[in-house]
Amino acid sequence: MQKILIHIFMSTSTQTAHESMYEAVLARLNVAAQLINLPETVTKVLRYPQKEVKVSLPVMMDDGKVQVFEGYRVVHSTHLGPSKGGIRYAMDVNDDEVRALAAWMTFKCAVADLPYGGAKGGIKCDPRKLSEGELERLSRAYAKAMKDVFGVNKDIPAPDMGTSAREMAWILDEYNKITGEDSPGVITGKPVGLGGSLGREAATGRGVMVNTLQALSKLNINPKQATAAVQGFGNVGSHAARLLAEQGIKIIAISDASGGYYDEKGIDIKDALNYIAKNNRILEGYPNATKITNEELLTLKCDVLVPAALQNVISPSIAENVKCKIIIEGANGPTYPEADPILNEKGIIVVPDILANSGGVTVSYFEWVQNKMGYYWTEEEVNQKHDEKMKVAFEKVWTNAKKYNTYMRIAAYITALEKIQLGIKMKGFF
Ligand code: NAD
Repeated sequence: MQKILIHIFMSTSTQTAHESMYEAVLARLNVAAQLINLPETVTKVLRYPQKEVKVSLPVMMDDGKVQVFEGYRVVHSTHLGPSKGGIRYAMDVNDDEVRALAAWMTFKCAVADLPYGGAKGGIKCDPRKLSEGELERLSRAYAKAMKDVFGVNKDIPAPDMGTSAREMAWILDEYNKITGEDSPGVITGKPVGLGGSLGREAATGRGVMVNTLQALSKLNINPKQATAAVQGFGNVGSHAARLLAEQGIKIIAISDASGGYYDEKGIDIKDALNYIAKNNRILEGYPNATKITNEELLTLKCDVLVPAALQNVISPSIAENVKCKIIIEGANGPTYPEADPILNEKGIIVVPDILANSGGVTVSYFEWVQNKMGYYWTEEEVNQKHDEKMKVAFEKVWTNAKKYNTYMRIAAYITALEKIQLGIKMKGFF
C-alpha cells in the first residue's frame, strides 16, 4: 500500500506542488478515489470547479489616485448545500490558489459533516500597506462586484488570511445596502454585535486544540507532558497556542513573518499575546525568547508541530528533518504532496488541514444557523457543539485510515468523498 501511494503521488504531481496548488488537490483526490473505487463520473465532476469569477476593483486611494485590484471567487461545489469559504487578502492570491482553496473547502465541509459545498475568494493586495479607509473601500468594491455570487442560501463567505470580522462587517453592510434587506447569514465571522457567533474568532485554533488532544490520546501521550511548536501567530496560530497552553501543553516555539521565538522551558503565550497587542500584531523584537528561523521551528524536536501560517512550508527536505510525532495542519496546504510519504515513513501522524482547521467553518456554520433562527447561543454552547463535532470528525477519519490502511490525509479525503458522492448521485448528474 505504502509503495502504491508513493508511486501515485510521484506520477500525478511531479513538481506540480510548486507550480499548481490545484494539481496538488487533484493528486490527493485521485489517490483517495482509487482506494474506494469512486465512480469515474464523480471524480470527473469534482475535478472542475462549478463557477469562477474574476473581477477588477478600482479603488480611490488616500493620495487621490485610483488603483485597480484583482478580486476572485471560485465556487468549487454546491453538491451538499450552498458553497462556503473564506476571503483572503494577500499578494500571492491568484486563480490557481483560490481554486485549490475552494476545493479544500468542499472536502473540509464534508469531513466536518456540514450541509455546505466549497468556495473561496480573495483579493490580490497587501493589507498591511493599505490604510483602514482604503481597506474599507476595497472590501465594499469586492462585495458590490460579487453581489450576484453571494447569497445566504447560495454562497457564504468568511474571513481567511489577511481578513477579520472588520472586513466581514463592511462586506455585509455593502451587500445589505445593495439588496435592501438585512441578511446577516450571507457572511460569517462577523463581529458579535452584527450577528457574529460567540466563539467564532477562536474556533479554528480551538479545532486545532481538539484535534491535538485526540491525536495525543491515540499515542497515549499525556498533554501535560507534551511539547508543541506553532508556526504563525495570527488568528489560527495565536488562538491555537493559547488553547494548547491552557491544556498544559508546553509551547516551546512560536513564530510569525518576523521569524521564530524559542524557549525550551516554554513560552508564556499570554505574555506573547500582550506583546503583539502593543506591537502592531507582530512578534518582531519579542524579548522573552531566543530568536530562531521559521525553518528551524519546523524541525525542532517536540511532540506536536502546528504549521498555522502559510501553504507549502513542509517541503520534502524539511520533512526529512522534521522531529515531531504529530503534525496538526492549522494552515491550508502547509505540506507538499511529495512530503506526505516521507512523513508517513517516519511514523509521523499528520492530521490534515481539511480536518485540523475545520473548527472555523464549523462555528461559521453555527453562526449561519443562529442567524437563520434569530436566536443566539452562549459561548459554552457553541464550544461544546464544536468540540463534539470535531471529535466525531477526527474519529471517522482515524477509523477510515485504519480501514483503508492509509494515512490520515487520504482517509480525510475518503471520509469526504463518501459523503459527497452520495450527494452527487442523489441529485443526479444532469
Ligand atoms: P492571519 O493573517 O491571521 O495570520 C497569518 C500568520 O502567519 C501571521 O502571524 C503572519 O505573520 C504569519 N506569517 C506570514 N508569513 C509568514 C512566514 N513566511 N513564515 C511564518 N509566518 C508567517 O491568518 P490566519 O487566519 O491565521 O490563517 C493562517 C492559515 O490558516 C491560512 O493558511 C488560512 O487559510 C488557514 N485557515 C484560517 C482559518 C481562519 O478561521 N482564520 C480557517 C481555516 C484555515
